[in-house]
Amino acid sequence: MIYADNAATTRLSDEVWAAMQPYFTEQYGNASAVYRLGRNAHSAIEAARETIAAVLGASPMEIFFTSCGSESDNWAVKGTARKLAVSGKNHIVTSAIEHPAVLRSAAAMEKEGFEVTRLPVDRFGQVSPDAVRRAIRPETALVSIMYANNEIGTVQPVEEIGALCREAGVLFHTDAVQAAGTLPIHVKEQRIDLLSLSAHKFYGPKGIGALYCRRGCCPANLIDGGAQERRHRAGTENAALIVGMAKALELAAAEMAEKEKKTAALRDRVQAGLLAIPGTTLNGHPVNRLPGILNVSFEQIDGQSLLFRLDLEGIAASSGSACASGSTEPSHVLLALGIPYELAHGSLRLSFGKYNTDADADAIVQTVAKVVNDLRKQSAVPQG
Ligand code: PLP
Repeated sequence: MIYADNAATTRLSDEVWAAMQPYFTEQYGNASAVYRLGRNAHSAIEAARETIAAVLGASPMEIFFTSCGSESDNWAVKGTARKLAVSGKNHIVTSAIEHPAVLRSAAAMEKEGFEVTRLPVDRFGQVSPDAVRRAIRPETALVSIMYANNEIGTVQPVEEIGALCREAGVLFHTDAVQAAGTLPIHVKEQRIDLLSLSAHKFYGPKGIGALYCRRGCCPANLIDGGAQERRHRAGTENAALIVGMAKALELAAAEMAEKEKKTAALRDRVQAGLLAIPGTTLNGHPVNRLPGILNVSFEQIDGQSLLFRLDLEGIAASSGSACASGSTEPSHVLLALGIPYELAHGSLRLSFGKYNTDADADAIVQTVAKVVNDLRKQSAVPQG
C-alpha cells in the first residue's frame, strides 16, 4: 500500500513506540499516587511537559494535556467564551475554513448567546489580518484562526494576527494540529494565547493532545473532576501517551528541515504530474502552504469514486469532501475558496510524510492519471 494520507494521521515512529512501552507495562502507576510507581509516572509526565514547552517556546506550566486536538479546540473556544461571558464578552471571531472542532464549538456557543463572525478567505484560503482587525469589537472574547489548513495546507499569517489581537487585548487561539511538527512555532514571539496540538499528526500516538494556555489565559474547565492538570482538566493522566507525544514532537522538531525538504519535493513531483492531466486545477495557496499537502480538483470526476478506485489500486488518499461523516457534500473549505460545486466534488488530497519515497510519488501520478482517464470514459455521455 502507498500511504498518502499523512494529514489524516501518521504512522507511529519506532522511537516513539519504544519510549512509550514501559508506561503500558512496568510503569503503570497512577501519577497522583504517593508511592514510587506513581511518582515515576508523575516524573515522566512532567518531563514530557517540559519537552513540549521547550519546542513551543512556552513554559511547562502553560502546557495542559487533553485527549485529542478536537478536545483542545473545544476547550479553547467554549472554555474561553464561557469564562469571559461573565465580563460581558459575547463575540467570537473565526474563519470559514476552520476544522469542525472549532466551527462546531463556535456554533455551540451561538446557542449559548454568543455572536460568531466567520471571516471569509481569499481564493487561496488566506484570512486577511485587516479583516480580523475590523471584526474585533469591545465585546470580542476570542479570535480563533488555524495555523495551517488540513485540506489545502494554506498557512495563515499567524504572527500578524497574534500581534493585532494582543494590541486589541483580545485572546488569540490557533489550531496548530496540522502545523505542529512541520512548521516552527514560538508561542511567545507569535503572540499566541492558546494553541491546540494533536500527537497523531506528527508520528505520535492517537488519543493524546495538548492545549498551550498562556499564563492567566486558561479557559473555564470542560472536564471537571480530580485535581489533575493543576485542576484545569480532570482525568487520570495517560503517561504512556503523554511520553509518546513529547518524544514525537521532539523528534519532529529535530527532523523538521529534512522532512520539509523531502515532503515538498515529493509534493512538487506529484503536483507537476497531476497538473499535466487535462482539466486539473490546484486548490489552495501555491506557495504559502504546508510542504506535504497537495489538493487538486479534476473536472468531470466524482471524488468519492476516485478514492475507491485508488484504494483498489493500493493508494490511501482522501478527498476534500466530508466522506468520513458519511456526507457527500463537498468540503466547506473548498467552497469557501469560491471553487465551483462540481470541482469541489472532484477533489483529491494527497498528503506526504517522512516514510514516503520517490517511487510512491511516481506510482501515484501514474495511477491517478489512469484512474481519472477511466472514470471520465465511463461517465462520458454516449453520443448520437
Ligand atoms: N484540527 C485540525 C486542523 C485537524 O486537522 C484535526 C484532525 O484532523 C483536528 C483539529 C482534530 O484532531 P484530533 O483528530 O486529534 O481530534
